[in-house]
Amino acid sequence: MRVLISGASVAGPVLAYWLDRYRFATTVVERTPALRHGLGGHAVDLFGHAADVVQQMGLLDEIVAARTMIEELTIERTGGRPVHVDLRRLYAGMSDQHVEILRGELTRILSAATAKATNYLFDDSITSLTDDGAGVDVTFEHAKPQRFDLVIGADGMHSNVRRLTFGPEESMRRHLGGYLAVYSTPDLGTGMVTHQSVNRLVATYGVRQTGQSRAAFMFRTAAELEYDYRDKTQQKRLLAREFHDYGWRVPQLLEHLEAADDFYFDAIAQITLDTWQRGRIGLVGDAGYCPAPAVGGGTSLAIATAYILAGELATNGPAGLRSYETKVRQMVDRSRAIGPKVMGSIIPGGPAALRLIPLAAAVVPRLPTPIQRFIWSQNAVGKALGSTPLPDYSRQLQGSGRAR
Ligand SMILES: Cc1cc2nc3c(=O)[nH]c(=O)nc-3n(C[C@H](O)[C@H](O)[C@H](O)COP(=O)(O)OP(=O)(O)OC[C@H]3O[C@@H](n4cnc5c(N)ncnc54)[C@H](O)[C@@H]3O)c2cc1C
Repeated sequence: MRVLISGASVAGPVLAYWLDRYRFATTVVERTPALRHGLGGHAVDLFGHAADVVQQMGLLDEIVAARTMIEELTIERTGGRPVHVDLRRLYAGMSDQHVEILRGELTRILSAATAKATNYLFDDSITSLTDDGAGVDVTFEHAKPQRFDLVIGADGMHSNVRRLTFGPEESMRRHLGGYLAVYSTPDLGTGMVTHQSVNRLVATYGVRQTGQSRAAFMFRTAAELEYDYRDKTQQKRLLAREFHDYGWRVPQLLEHLEAADDFYFDAIAQITLDTWQRGRIGLVGDAGYCPAPAVGGGTSLAIATAYILAGELATNGPAGLRSYETKVRQMVDRSRAIGPKVMGSIIPGGPAALRLIPLAAAVVPRLPTPIQRFIWSQNAVGKALGSTPLPDYSRQLQGSGRAR
């Protein structure tokens, strides 16, 4: 079967890799002009199942070697002493396996593993999809029209395939009441340092490979902001206005805002669509069920669900789009519960939370691991991390000669 995947970030390459292992012919169309440079993007986490999947792909060691190596978080407070958090112990308390890596590094490693077998079309985008029940006719901005057996949208929170197939984003987006901005700055130190106030958070962390740092800002607003998502200048002005009176190191960080060419700004929002397939077209990762950037564990969800989608398509053919939906539903539902909780625990909603968050962050990693595991297992994060077991498709399919 010929499968077209839109998006070459996390879900797209993982899906392409496994489909190739199951003898599908894969094409990936990606809007950016070339594979993202390895050192771009923000830091993302791989937990549990996601680490299992990349291990089965033979990539875990390479991913671990490329990790951020940020091991301590310092929470600075106005009028209080800084709190130091041992991140290794915090993550070990959450899950047996955790790796933090820049998204660009992850994409580079995942895509390299698919480069030989997958046909990549860069600097292009799908313009129309016509599903006649036996296949999908696809037109592109640049490439010639082609017909595929299946088309999968792995093109992120603002998915193009989702818009073309399911309609405009507004009706399927749940705003969690916050915004997020990230950009590169000159070196500000290697560790991670945060400063919180009611409804606002600022963080910096070092990128060891480049000697640069990233500045990250999160804030809540009572009402959704009006802005053009393509207009970076407008978004930079918005961020500067929001933080102009913040103090701490913010004036220094804002000095680098105008020159930042990797500025990212988006709403902390979820995609609430509850079906991820229509005919021969499907969605995977943030495109189908973004659990909210930076607070929802979207990277691990994208990797685990892309693996399941490939396995279901190999097992059931096009009907695998429906069985995939059934298999990942619990994982998706649980992941959707994470974002609002994590937002509450990192952006203080009031003075009490402002006092409590640093204390909890300092105390929890010092508890014995079984007690930490118990604490995590009682909340949404723990439930999502430990949900649905991953099926072993390779063993099932190798027996019938359908897997390499
Ligand atoms: C600032 C920030 C911080 C984050 N922090 C974390 C974290 O700490 N932990 C965590 O687990 N997750 C985090 N995330 C979320 C994580 O990045 C996503 O959940 C994950 O990358 C989802 O992968 P994906 O492949 O589904 O989508 P994406 O990574 O969004 O990739 C979509 C791809 O599709 C491409 N594309 C878009 N439109 C088109 C088009 N029209 N045609 C072709 N290609 C297209 C894009 O260029 C991109 O390559 C964070 C996200 C952000 C923005």
